[in-house]
Amino acid sequence: MAKAWLALGANMGDAKAQIESAICHIAQHVNIEISKKSKMIISKAWGNTEQSDFHNIVIEIATEIEPKELLKICQEIENRLGRIRGEKWGPRIIDIDIIAYDRFEIATDFLTLPHPYAHERDFVINLLRGISPLTAEWVIKLAKQS
Ligand code: ADP
Ligand code: MG
Repeated sequence: MAKAWLALGANMGDAKAQIESAICHIAQHVNIEISKKSKMIISKAWGNTEQSDFHNIVIEIATEIEPKELLKICQEIENRLGRIRGEKWGPRIIDIDIIAYDRFEIATDFLTLPHPYAHERDFVINLLRGISPLTAEWVIKLAKQS
């Protein structure tokens, strides 16, 4: 069974409820088990700062679904919750990113692992550190090498 770490964020509507709803959808998937959850935090918008604060959480899952398929499932859940893809780093009803999948490394347009911006977002690294310190250190180490 692989382990993966997902970062969920939202800053439109009832952000906390949307994150909880996304977590329910993930938990309901037959081939995904949620093994850990970080605390939920509120952070300032990153990248495009002229927008509402975000709610964020990082979860650890156990799954046999391969990484690309897992990202498709995350995007389906985003769509089901009503996400409309607008401007890059703009406001969103829900965002589900794969921060890391075991120690898997890949760089394609569709999927980059570990997540290319995770190490620049302190709150993601801090939340990840809370549930998997070794993974957080690995993400930072790789970012320094590249
Ligand atoms: P953001 O970068 O703010 O999360 P989006 O959620 O719109 O923006 O994602 C943009 C693209 O990033 C998606 O089309 C997806 O294919 C790609 N992507 C690449 N690597 C990852 C990853 N590790 N997790 C989630 N999306 C990824
Ligand atoms: Mg995303």
